[in-house]
Amino acid sequence: MNLIALPAFADNYIWMLHDGARAVVVDPGDAAPVLAALDQQRLTLAGILVTHHHADHVGGVTALHPRLQGPVWGPARERIPQPCVPLAEGDRIEVLGLPFEVLDVPGHTAGHIAYVQAGPGDDDAAPLLFCGDTLFSAGCGRLFEGTPAQMQQSLAKLAALPGRTRVCCTHEYTLSNLRFAAAVEPANARRAEHEARCRALREAGRPTLPSTVSLEREINPFLRCAEPAVVAAARAQGAAGDDEVSVLAALREWKNRFR
Ligand code: ZN
Ligand code: FE
Repeated sequence: MNLIALPAFADNYIWMLHDGARAVVVDPGDAAPVLAALDQQRLTLAGILVTHHHADHVGGVTALHPRLQGPVWGPARERIPQPCVPLAEGDRIEVLGLPFEVLDVPGHTAGHIAYVQAGPGDDDAAPLLFCGDTLFSAGCGRLFEGTPAQMQQSLAKLAALPGRTRVCCTHEYTLSNLRFAAAVEPANARRAEHEARCRALREAGRPTLPSTVSLEREINPFLRCAEPAVVAAARAQGAAGDDEVSVLAALREWKNRFR
C-alpha cells in the first residue's frame, strides 16, 4: 500500500492511499491535485474519507463525483456534501481491503471524526491514523465548535493508540507548532531534535508528516498537559487549575495569540 501527501492550498495535505490500481483520498478540499495524481499514476478513485465539514476538507468532493467508484464516508453529525455514508464512534469500514475504525474526536468541530486502521495490512506497515484538524504534529486544531474538555478527551483518545501509529494530519503546521512547543517546554531535548529534522525536511521541500503517536507523546504540549513543566508554563499563562483540561485551555489560548 502506498501513502502520499498531496499538497493543496497554502498548507493542506490531501492524503492518498493507493494499491497501484485503486486509490482513496482523505479530506479533498480541492479536486485538482487529486485528479492530477489519479491521472499521473493511472488510478481509479475507490472512495473518499471526510473528517469534518470545513471547506478546506470537503471543497473538492462534489467535483470528484464523476470519477468516484465508491462511497464518500463522513461524520454523521456534520453537514457533508451528499451522498455520504454517515459514521460515528465504533463504526468499522473497509478501505482498499484495510479495516478502519471510526473515533469521535470533537473539539475543532462538534462532529469531527478520525479514522484509525484497526487491523493489519498485507505488509508490515504501521497502522494509519487520519485525524483531520484534531491532532497536528506538535499541536492541535483550534476550538471552533468544541470545548477544551472535549478536545482534551479527543486528544487523549488519539494519544492512547499504539505508539507506532502513523499520524496523518491535514496541515503542514509542524515548524510553527514546534516554535510554540519550545516556548512551553524549552528543556524538552526530544522536541529540539525533532525541530532540526523537520527544518531539513521543509528545506528539501518534503512534508514533515506523517508523525507517530509515540513521537507526539514526547513533543506535543497538547498531549503533555499532565507534565509538570507544561502545567507550570500553563499556570504562568493564567491556567485556572493544574488539571489537564485547564492546562489545555490555557495552552490553546496562549497558542492563539502566539507569534
Ligand atoms: Zn478544519
Ligand atoms: Fe483544515
